[in-house]
Amino acid sequence: MDNEVHDLIGVGIGPFNLSLAALLEDLYEVKSIFFDKKSHFEWHPGMLIVGTRLQVPFMADLVTLADPTNQYSFLNYLAKENRLYPFYFLQRLDIPRREYNDYCQWVANELENCLFGKKVVGLEYIQQEEIFLVKVQDIHTKETMNYKGRNLVLGTGSVPVIPESMKGLPAEDVFHTSEFLDRQKRCREAKSITVIGSGQSAAEVFRELLKEQMDHHYRLNWITRSRSFLSMEESKLSVEQFSPDYVNYFYQFSQEQKDKIFASQDLLYKGISSHTITDIYNLLYEHSVSGEEVDVRLQVLTEVKGIQAKGNEYEILCNQWQQNKEFIHESEVVIVGTGYRPYIPEFIENIKTYIHWDDQGRYRVEADYRLRLDIPNQIYVHSGISHSHGVGSTNLGLAVHRNKVIINHLTGREVFPIYDKNVFQNFDAETF
Ligand SMILES: Cc1cc2nc3c(=O)[nH]c(=O)nc-3n(C[C@H](O)[C@H](O)[C@H](O)COP(=O)(O)OP(=O)(O)OC[C@H]3O[C@@H](n4cnc5c(N)ncnc54)[C@H](O)[C@@H]3O)c2cc1C
Repeated sequence: MDNEVHDLIGVGIGPFNLSLAALLEDLYEVKSIFFDKKSHFEWHPGMLIVGTRLQVPFMADLVTLADPTNQYSFLNYLAKENRLYPFYFLQRLDIPRREYNDYCQWVANELENCLFGKKVVGLEYIQQEEIFLVKVQDIHTKETMNYKGRNLVLGTGSVPVIPESMKGLPAEDVFHTSEFLDRQKRCREAKSITVIGSGQSAAEVFRELLKEQMDHHYRLNWITRSRSFLSMEESKLSVEQFSPDYVNYFYQFSQEQKDKIFASQDLLYKGISSHTITDIYNLLYEHSVSGEEVDVRLQVLTEVKGIQAKGNEYEILCNQWQQNKEFIHESEVVIVGTGYRPYIPEFIENIKTYIHWDDQGRYRVEADYRLRLDIPNQIYVHSGISHSHGVGSTNLGLAVHRNKVIINHLTGREVFPIYDKNVFQNFDAETF
């Protein structure tokens, strides 16, 4: 048992809590500690494909949008690595995804309040002392230790989604895009590969496979249920929906209205970046003039109903839903790009009764990112709040804004000023 009572205990050290830990470092009034079950910081390692880029400008680093003078800014990372000049001459805002990961690793290594290789396995609330008891297991020794905290912040992220009809098959042949780099060798040995889904991750995997196809000679297929390989809405005025202003606007609606609005915003986060589509088209075009036998097929309007093993291959049962025509497609490797979903962590089981839930089993979340609770302590939350705070909840830049709000609430003072008007357009009729 660690007898110190922390003001804040963080669970999960992805970018969202890492940003919070960095912003808290010089704030001596808040004693904080953060845990992650991974042995070191890693940001979606299976998708750190060379050539992929962050979908937000580098200014959405861990601290800049809260405090550009903070020592953990991306520019200071470059300075410490003596790479400012190459970056200056690069003249790009969208940094490589591998570089963002490296930058976060640098920050995580600098922060003393971030402990890795520590899995949170249980949580209790001690009513007499008004504190949480957080049970933490060391992933190597398996020893557990209890930590005391007045408040918690949950940043446990999301998990890959594989539809039931595609589960239970050998993991080396049928796998989620999140595992792509771990299984790239298997892809290179395959005779045929099929990518299912048409979100950004599926497109990035398809592009990488297309690049390598001439060297490895597999048949390459891409199937999507969508009516087209749709582009993400990326115009400057569209992305103003990833602003604090839009979060405030969205928050005021009833849950029923929020669910309707959210369902209509697919293309802000589900489509494919236009530069990725351009790369893919350019590669397809180049392949078409190469004179080599290159076998690539792209199929839209087609839902995958199930997958079953057949010899060394898999039969993929497809339905072209507009024509209502079923067909079977065979492939040796199948890569499932069906996205991610938030989840309620198991360790909160013992405190579930203190939390308010909606009729769909989702948290009820206050405007300042606190769970609605029956106890005086706070549980702030980063993950699984799209239903309450909207489409920008998983956006890296908005996470920094969220951390400003959390820190101001936690300290009871305005550590970071919060501005009402940050973008050109109005969402609310009253402010027009
Ligand atoms: C491939 C990919 C690319 C993306 N690119 C962008 C982008 O360019 N721009 C953008 O704005 N958004 C992007 N996103 C969306 C979002 O920014 C990321 O999902 C981001 O990683 C979310 O951060 P997080 O801190 O919530 O969660 P995560 O990064 O998922 O981290 C959660 C952490 O919690 C830990 N954890 C979970 N349970 C426990 C436990 N019980 N005990 C201890 N630790 C635990 C996990 O080990 C993990 O490290 C991307 C998402 C994906 C999947």
